[in-house]
Amino acid sequence: MIIVMKPNSPAAEIERVTAEVQNYKITPEVCVSQHKTIIALVGDTAEIDITRIQNISHCIEQVLRVKKPFKRASLEFRHGDYSEVVVPTPNGLVTFGRNHPLIVVAGPCSVENEEMIIETAHIVKATGSQFLRGGAYKPRTSPYAFQGHGESALKLLAKAKEATGLGIITEVMDAEEIEKIGEVADVLQIGARNMQNFSLLKKVGAYGKPVLLKRGLSATIEDWLMSAEYILAAGNPNVILCERGIRTFDKQYTRNTLDISAIPVLRTLTHLPIMIDPSHATGFSEFVPTMAMAAIASGTDSLMIEVHPNPAKALSDGPQSLTIEAFEQLMLELAPLGKFFGRWAKNDNATVMPKFAAKVATLASH
Ligand code: PEP
Ligand code: MN
Repeated sequence: MIIVMKPNSPAAEIERVTAEVQNYKITPEVCVSQHKTIIALVGDTAEIDITRIQNISHCIEQVLRVKKPFKRASLEFRHGDYSEVVVPTPNGLVTFGRNHPLIVVAGPCSVENEEMIIETAHIVKATGSQFLRGGAYKPRTSPYAFQGHGESALKLLAKAKEATGLGIITEVMDAEEIEKIGEVADVLQIGARNMQNFSLLKKVGAYGKPVLLKRGLSATIEDWLMSAEYILAAGNPNVILCERGIRTFDKQYTRNTLDISAIPVLRTLTHLPIMIDPSHATGFSEFVPTMAMAAIASGTDSLMIEVHPNPAKALSDGPQSLTIEAFEQLMLELAPLGKFFGRWAKNDNATVMPKFAAKVATLASH
């Protein structure tokens, strides 16, 4: 249930309503967004009479029941206000959200060595992207496949961060590693295979750093939002949802099927920001640019793209990784599209890579 307060309600009145509803043995949460203040009542509200709540104060505009099983994640919970996930990085605050420029996260599947991660980080930065990704702990189907370099890879991510000021996103597979990873990562990634690892979700929720929650391989949208609910319920409001392709029947020509319809569907269901990962979704680098463009056209808030200086030699996910050149080219091609949809940062590549910016300008003028 949510209580929507009238605009400009006095703080004292909001406090009074908050205190009164505690008589119903429910802990209210006050959520102040740009346009309104909402008092959320989560718990057993079925028996609560809406009119009695409405009568608490003349400053209450509306009292509504949240019908969806995912309460905090639902758009109703914020009365239609899309949330922002603001991530502090050395280069400044980066905001993921419906009403913000597109955020690009790029980097190799795995952190392999110092040279490759630093080189990739510089390119990622030069293209105007905001985050470097790279796995230190890798979820692999085979126990015999490369499992990631672990702690030493975290140190390399820290170096890349220091060299470029980029934010870092890397996966957490085990709750015991949260602290260690959290020292370097600005956003903790929960991979597709752990989307329903509920104890891990509770722990990353309690830890407090922003979480990137990938959609499980065969998860319905509701399963996915219920998983987000675990993180939100643990007290962490900073969740980004990442669609990375779901299992369908073709394994030969695509690795997964990118559910691009998840974008408009999620927009009707949740206030949380959305990311699309065309790399894991398609499994082949040649299809990544088309799907990245489709994602922008469909309104994604961010993109995650795997990039590797030498995909043929990559220790994981080489076939889907763009070369440095292909990634630079893709960013050039995305710029006019991002601008067309009003989702491209004003301070894009211009300040960091003059040649690159000139090319963007030429493309944009056609
Ligand atoms: C990854 O991002 O490298 C990864 C393993 O992703 P997913 O969990 O989507 O397979
Ligand atoms: Mn990968």
